[in-house]
Amino acid sequence: MKYFFFYSTILFTVISCSQKQKVDLLIYNAKIYTVDSSFSIAEAMAVNDEKIVEIGTTKDLTEKYSGNDNIDAEGKFIYPGFIDAHAHFYRYGLGLNTANLFETTSWEDILNRLQTFAQTHKDGWLIGRGWDQNDWAVKNFPTKERLDIMFPDRPVLLTRVDGHAAIANQKALDLADVIGGQTLTGGTVETKNGQLTGILIDNAVDLVAQKIPSATPDQISKSLMQGQQNCFAVGLTTVDDCGIHYTQALFMDSLQKKGILKMRVYAMLSDAAQNFEYLFQHGKIKTDHLNVRSFKVYADGALGSRGACLLEPYSDRKDWSGFLLSSQQHFDSVANIISQKGFQMCTHAIGDSGNRTILNIYAKYLKGKNDQRWRIEHAQVINEADFNLFGQNNIIPSVQPTHATSDMYWAGDRLGSERVKGAYAFKQLMNQNGWIPLGTDFPVEDISPFKTFLAAVFRVDAQGFPAGGYQVENALSPQDALRGMTIWAAKSNFEEGEKGSLEKGKFADFIILDKDLITSDAKDVLNTTVLATYIGGEKVYSKK
Ligand SMILES: [Zn+2]
Repeated sequence: MKYFFFYSTILFTVISCSQKQKVDLLIYNAKIYTVDSSFSIAEAMAVNDEKIVEIGTTKDLTEKYSGNDNIDAEGKFIYPGFIDAHAHFYRYGLGLNTANLFETTSWEDILNRLQTFAQTHKDGWLIGRGWDQNDWAVKNFPTKERLDIMFPDRPVLLTRVDGHAAIANQKALDLADVIGGQTLTGGTVETKNGQLTGILIDNAVDLVAQKIPSATPDQISKSLMQGQQNCFAVGLTTVDDCGIHYTQALFMDSLQKKGILKMRVYAMLSDAAQNFEYLFQHGKIKTDHLNVRSFKVYADGALGSRGACLLEPYSDRKDWSGFLLSSQQHFDSVANIISQKGFQMCTHAIGDSGNRTILNIYAKYLKGKNDQRWRIEHAQVINEADFNLFGQNNIIPSVQPTHATSDMYWAGDRLGSERVKGAYAFKQLMNQNGWIPLGTDFPVEDISPFKTFLAAVFRVDAQGFPAGGYQVENALSPQDALRGMTIWAAKSNFEEGEKGSLEKGKFADFIILDKDLITSDAKDVLNTTVLATYIGGEKVYSKK
């Protein structure tokens, strides 16, 4: 018996050498996290025609396959390409042509950055993004006087980190015909002593933003290329683009069909009549690179600017509970039509009242257990009584772990010590359906999925603060965090059959890392380097 086994092995090897199957890519000697249902680890992967042909041991696959490209991974770590379940890819790309106002230390700091930016961007509007007065010693909103002195003839619009507030100079306000005392639904034009301060809240931001001339197709294309390159460098192979116009989705489709845009995009169209008309008339759009079958609706604003709609007043502003951005009736009618047409609804909801409103409307149309995968984006502050509505109706909370570690400095002030326990409650939310997609909300946060992993698992920020983690009872295990960034994100996009794990028949979207993220200490997570990124078996990024 022993001899028989010995000879048959030799025989098999001889046969297989002569009849090795040719594939596009064979990668071996790796530690491959397949993120399949049993979270199994493999060593080698054969890829042909963009898809995984087989995954297994180095011995088996090197005997069976010969690649046009053969890669010895030398023991490095392979993960499925990361999927960001909530981002603003298009906006991020365009934003690369705007002044970066993230992590400013003061209003003075903003003005200095803008001065520098204006020297290299000499014409037209000056657009900036990312400021957060909560980061400053003086935490009041700034006013526009010095912008008016510095830029009397160039319109300026500087958007807050969450996009729900902005400051404009007089030139921009004039172009948009904004006047003091103006009232509008779902927004505020701020005045002090009857004078415009330049601060615009929620829908008031759009009054000015809509006056900004649009970029040319060539400019947009270049910006998106830059954006995807940055994303590949951090291991992203699919991004959910939350709330774009159908023409933007079609533009990305055209770039993908030309082979210029290789990033896979799950696009949610924003809540606008044109988008509903287009998609209902043309039906869902599905290619290997683009999936359009959902709508993004906004329930309320953000917590930082106190635009989130709360059940009880803000703990640091007793006369104020925020507000819904549209009427209940609007959300209900949108849910009704989306339900009838069989599309997915994804609603931004931050405050506990915003979330309750949407949960109840969803429940009315989903009617208990279902597989519609309607999502609540952020699901940031949930009243204790409302958590079970997620599980009862299979509503998917789509959360961004870095929001917890960015907001932790002031979330307790806004919400008070009791209410804040129901905020950023990722574990509790995950338990509702047994799975949860994770994202970043970039460019609101950094694009790095490693920061998402760090915040989800260790509940600390990039500086490692706070020691021991913030509200750690809601930390996810490393395995669940990885699932949230891969297979569960794919599932929230109805794409778990084609990506999100490294299994036979799926797209070969994967990354090679120099360290093993799953077994990493908190301090090593952000020191993990993406050595290469592959989409459909094609190398789209490699570390120089
Ligand atoms: Zn967002």
